[in-house]
Amino acid sequence: MIHDEERVRRKRTCRFCEQGIEFIDYKDDRFLRRFLSDRAKILTRRITGNCAFHQRQLTTAIKRGRHLALLPFTSEIHR
Ligand SMILES: [Zn+2]
Repeated sequence: MIHDEERVRRKRTCRFCEQGIEFIDYKDDRFLRRFLSDRAKILTRRITGNCAFHQRQLTTAIKRGRHLALLPFTSEIHR
């Protein structure tokens, strides 16, 4: 049986750990956007494959970005 994670990524590695990134830059909105769904929701760990530590960092970074209006709260911009 092929499950969803087979489709997303075979190896479940955290890209931040892979690249040795300790702190995620909340000002890098173009980068953070890659972790938002089409409805501007934060992608879950199941999809991103991040470890718990970095997923939390990412969530915090995105929330900060939203408050600084770098990132959307909803998907009003697209479409
Ligand atoms: Zn990690």
